[in-house]
Amino acid sequence: MSSQLIRALLLALLSTVVALPIGYFVAHWAGWTVFCLGLALQMAFHFRNFARLDRWSHNPVVDASLEGEGAWDGIFGRLYRHEKDLREQIAQRDHEIAMLIAAGQALTDGVVLLDLHDQIIFCNTTAETQLGLVIRTDRGQSVANIVRQPEFVAYLEEGDFSRPLTMRTERREDRVFSIHIIPYAGNRRLMQIKDVTQTDRLDRMRRDFVANVSHELRTPLTVLAGFLETLQEFDVDREERNRYIDMMSEQSKRMQSIVQDLLTLSSIESAPPPESDPVDMVNLLDKLRRDAEALSAGRHTIIVETDGQGDLRGSEPELISAFGNLVANAVRYTPAGGTIRISWHATPQGAEFAVQDTGIGIDPKHIPRLTERFYRVDRGRSRDAGGTGLGLAIVKHSLNRHQAQLEVKSTPGTGSRFAAKFPASRVAGL
Ligand code: ADP
Repeated sequence: MSSQLIRALLLALLSTVVALPIGYFVAHWAGWTVFCLGLALQMAFHFRNFARLDRWSHNPVVDASLEGEGAWDGIFGRLYRHEKDLREQIAQRDHEIAMLIAAGQALTDGVVLLDLHDQIIFCNTTAETQLGLVIRTDRGQSVANIVRQPEFVAYLEEGDFSRPLTMRTERREDRVFSIHIIPYAGNRRLMQIKDVTQTDRLDRMRRDFVANVSHELRTPLTVLAGFLETLQEFDVDREERNRYIDMMSEQSKRMQSIVQDLLTLSSIESAPPPESDPVDMVNLLDKLRRDAEALSAGRHTIIVETDGQGDLRGSEPELISAFGNLVANAVRYTPAGGTIRISWHATPQGAEFAVQDTGIGIDPKHIPRLTERFYRVDRGRSRDAGGTGLGLAIVKHSLNRHQAQLEVKSTPGTGSRFAAKFPASRVAGL
């Protein structure tokens, strides 16, 4: 039996013990009155505490207002502790949920949680930007209403999520996303969205590069194989034979140039950052002039313009390779009788190495793509001039490694100017 019940019975017994002698010695009605008064007092006491409990239950604050009397004090105390524990647990859960949401927001990948019907429950801000979602308004929407591309809808419906789906979204055509749906907690789904634009671009570049190299090498190889077959199978006179051998040697030189340029590119890419020892520019300009004159074989006027001030800090072989390519291009793309002006000017604010020619010039639409590997304005002309299509790619890489910018100005039919602009940190000797 509970202590409250025993206490209630004892109080009733006390009323009876007091009421009985009064009823016996004074009057019956007096005894009953005392008995009823005892019970009424007990009821009033319980009612007062009950009303207090009722009031508190409407607004269960954890403070001293929850204080009972007598037996009620124990009940109120237990309620108080229970409510306090509950509130602490809720606060703890709220904190944990907030931390989980913060972790979701901190992810660099987009995350979208879907319910059993593929409706959006939660998404982080990365996913909002990637998919153009606004969680406040889109919560509860089917994800297929937001990402409407047929390939995504098919991926969602097929239910085979062993591989991610790579696609562009309607809203962000310039980006490529890899969307992976990961089932969890039964039929619920978590969408992980990675921005793979960069990897996709590199993949495409790698594929294009391999295709270009194969194509570039296949042409001279086919020519070589053809001549070899002819020489093996047919009796050709000496003169014809020598002509074939000349052409074969030309093709093998072409392959050599391509392989040499590829090796230069790859060594520049994998080399450590260029040193910052000063490179003697007077010597370098002299070498460039001699090389240009040798390549031109008297067909052009070569001018070197410099006040002889200042040197460059960097890797001499890389700078020779970059500047040499600019000079060689100027010679190759300038018809006989033209002028090639090589200039070098340095100030404490920066320096400029430039090659200006009076050659065929370049249509402005080609200029942004000139430094791509194997990009040529006129493939036949480049080949005839002994070009590999890799020269300006080498120039761009070497200059980048020296924090320099390549500036190209050209007018078709009039000439071009290729300028390498170096920052102050690369200038020495001023
Ligand atoms: P290539 O080996 O074909 O010369 P480059 O990468 O050096 O390859 O140059 C890319 C293309 O840029 C060339 O094929 C040519 O069309 C154009 N080009 C480069 N330099 C000049 C120039 N000085 N004048 C005109 N066109 C040029």
